Order: sequence, then structure tokens, then C-alpha cells
Amino acid sequence: MEIIRGIHAVPGTHISRVYLIEEDDLTLIDTGLPWSAGRVLRYIRRIGRQARELRRILMTHSHPDHTGGVHGILKHSGARVIAHRADTREYRRHEGQVLAHTGMFTHIDTYLPFLKRAPVSHLPKEDEILPIAGGMRVLHTPGHTPGSVCYFMERDGLLFSGDTIFSDHGRVSRSMPFPGSDAERYRQSLECLAALDFDILCGGHGSPLVGGASREFRSLMNRKPQLPTWSEFFFKRVPSRLMHHRGLSAEDY
Ligand SMILES: [Zn+2]
Ligand SMILES: [Zn+2]
Repeated sequence: MEIIRGIHAVPGTHISRVYLIEEDDLTLIDTGLPWSAGRVLRYIRRIGRQARELRRILMTHSHPDHTGGVHGILKHSGARVIAHRADTREYRRHEGQVLAHTGMFTHIDTYLPFLKRAPVSHLPKEDEILPIAGGMRVLHTPGHTPGSVCYFMERDGLLFSGDTIFSDHGRVSRSMPFPGSDAERYRQSLECLAALDFDILCGGHGSPLVGGASREFRSLMNRKPQLPTWSEFFFKRVPSRLMHHRGLSAEDY
């Protein structure tokens, strides 16, 4: 599915979103769950390109619903993985950094057959501009995880926002409070994003919002400046949403 010319949302990647940027070479934003790798590779073939043309994989953050497909994709391409240092760690079996896993697995140094470590080739600096699609600015937006980043394509006013903010059915929402996330840093990151002008929002879940995205985001921030607390969210809002089959974003519509 092409969102705008050369920017695709890979269809059928379940729960989380994987985006593909098509130029002379190819770039992925995130990799989805482990079983999304096959879909990504098939989609690349379907649009008449080849996996070996994939040069870079930009990670928005190191949660398994976004990094799980990386090994399956790396098997078929020589892509370089790019992620923020704060979502990586040193691992004695590799030179340099690897993607961090969530929770206790991050710090385990022994080999676990079900946990492969993905090497990270490049750790961008704040505001670094990557040579993709006319210049892709790296914005460090910690909170959801320490190393969450958004990638901003200035040419098209397009923001790849990972799990920092999402859109669905034309509405923008914040990510739900998450055990382990940092509410204060998250709030500061949202303020930085509210000062940015972007027309198109491609979040890590939901459906992309094309047109007026930053306006929609600012109006959400003005309407509902506070996020629910973690316990409010899980003990009040989640049960009511499950009863009414509604989505699990942090906003009540
Ligand atoms: Zn996440
Ligand atoms: Zn996610």
C-alpha cells in the first residue's frame, strides 16, 4: 500500500506497522513481529524490487513487536540496522552494540537459543540527518522507551513516530502508559513534537494520517493535556474498552 509516492506501508504485518521507502535502494522503518519478515520480503518482490536492495533498517525503538522481524530480513539482505544508543546494549558475543530486549532479557549475557541478538551498525546522534528520501532527521523522543526516536522526512513533512504517537481512522493518539515507560520524559517529547510541523503521520500501529497531522496532534494536546495514569488506564479504561471492543490507545474518544 503506497501512502505517498515511494513510501509504502507493508500490508498484513499484524498488530504493528512496517514502512518501506523506495528509492534507488530500499529502507525499512521497523520490522514487525518475527513472522512479519516473510511478508516484508514478499512485498518487496511484489513491487518489483529485491531484498538485496534493502540497505538500511531504521528502528523506532526496541520493543519486540517492532524488532522481531529483523533476523528474518537480515538473512536475505545486507541491510545495516540503525537504532538509538539508549535502546541498545553491549553484548560480549558481538563487537559493538546490539538491540536491547525488553525486561530482564536485556541484561542476560549467556546465549539463549530463542533470543538472537541483532547487531546495530549505526547509532545516530540527535538531529542527525540520514541520507534517505532527501534527508531524514532523527529526533530522540524518549519516554515510551529510553531510546525511542521519530524519523522526520522534511521533504514531504512526514513523521515516522513509532510508538510515541499513533493515528487511526484520522485521529491522533498517544501511546498508553506502559510499565517501565518514563512519564515525564514522554511528556517532554510530546511537547517537542507539538512544535514540529508535519503533514503526514506514520505511527507504529494504526493507520497513517495523510494531511494536517500536526494540527490534529496539537488539538489533541490542547483538548486532553493529561494522559491517564498507569493504574487508571489498566484498571478503569482497559476493562471498559474490552467490554465495548474499542482500541487500546491512551485516548478516550
Ligand atoms: Zn513499543
Ligand atoms: Zn508497538
